[in-house]
Amino acid sequence: MSDGFATRAIHAGQEADPATGSVIVPIHATSTYAQDGVGGMRAGYEYSRTGNPTRTALEECLAELERGRYGRAFASGMAATDAVLRAVLRPGDHVIIPDDAYGGTFRLIDKVLTGWGVEFSPVRLSDVDAVRAEIRPETKMIWVESPTNPLLNIADIAVLAQVARQAGALLAVDNTFASPYLQQPLELGADVVVHSTTKYLGGHSDVVGGAVVTSDEALHERIAFLQNTAGAVPGPFDAWLTLRGLKTLAVRMERHSANAERVVAALQSHRKVSKVLYPGIAEHPNHDVAVKQMRHFGGMVSFLHADGEQAALEVCSRTRLFTLAESLGGVESLIEHPGRMTHASTAGSLLQVPGELVRLSVGIEDADDLVEDLLAALG
Ligand SMILES: *Cc1c(COP(=O)(O)O)cnc(C)c1O
Repeated sequence: MSDGFATRAIHAGQEADPATGSVIVPIHATSTYAQDGVGGMRAGYEYSRTGNPTRTALEECLAELERGRYGRAFASGMAATDAVLRAVLRPGDHVIIPDDAYGGTFRLIDKVLTGWGVEFSPVRLSDVDAVRAEIRPETKMIWVESPTNPLLNIADIAVLAQVARQAGALLAVDNTFASPYLQQPLELGADVVVHSTTKYLGGHSDVVGGAVVTSDEALHERIAFLQNTAGAVPGPFDAWLTLRGLKTLAVRMERHSANAERVVAALQSHRKVSKVLYPGIAEHPNHDVAVKQMRHFGGMVSFLHADGEQAALEVCSRTRLFTLAESLGGVESLIEHPGRMTHASTAGSLLQVPGELVRLSVGIEDADDLVEDLLAALG
């Protein structure tokens, strides 16, 4: 399909139901499918772990949005991450990950995959020479997040795709923070894209899910095999909620990004804020890369409080519209203290985040109200 992004989000994989004319893909709440004679599947479905029509619609839409040939939906972002890692890595293999990787991804690799003989190196991915220096003969994958969480670091996906190709490794990108509306890693040379659809793709903080998209047929077959074999699949209602969320992804991301820019401007001129972390501002060390590979800069904003950790904690408990909570990417604005919440487990490690850091997931409410709320909380 050559349609634009918003059109694909609303229509890809979602033709009116041929049996009833239902404009919206039905929730196919069934575990099994009647056969016309032994082996006589009517529409290619035999059992819902293997395939379900609501899930298929979601998978086709996800693939089209990332400009990939194949999409697979999973029960969570971590299940999708696990499938990609296990589809590619074997005992003795080595993977390079961001030095500020999503905590769950770091835990999966550090606590589970190493037990299966996989080795890993955390590297600051914005430093391409540092990435090259970590490549070994056993390096089979570079795992990228851009922007990262919660420091909003940016990696050059096209350059890292070349580095991976030269090394005979695959480039995997966790595109959760950007969403395919802002950034399309496969078009930049990545081999496979992973999502926590729990965040921007679902977009309403009401469903947990994950996705894998690739155009590599052999890799897709391994992913599909693991999806069916390990069985971490979303149920039909979860698939339907995610598909419903996708329909508005384009307008939501426009608004998230515009609101974030308003919030950033207010924070930048505030005397209690010593630093704003956002890829859209000229002071960001990789702003030029962000401009090159992203449409806008998204809804995630972090900042450092000038008065230290206690003051940062107080801001988090003083906002009225920004809800104090983990997670991100929903229509409602959230605030959190990474050092005590999402990134508490990094305390004392190389990945430790500053105590005065506050992270915002800027929602799609009225920007004036969001700015007013933050200014009141900052005092
Ligand atoms: C939330 C998140 C995940 C994990 O997804 P779940 O749906 O919570 O399993 C992975 N990567 C990133 C960047 C995330 O924000």
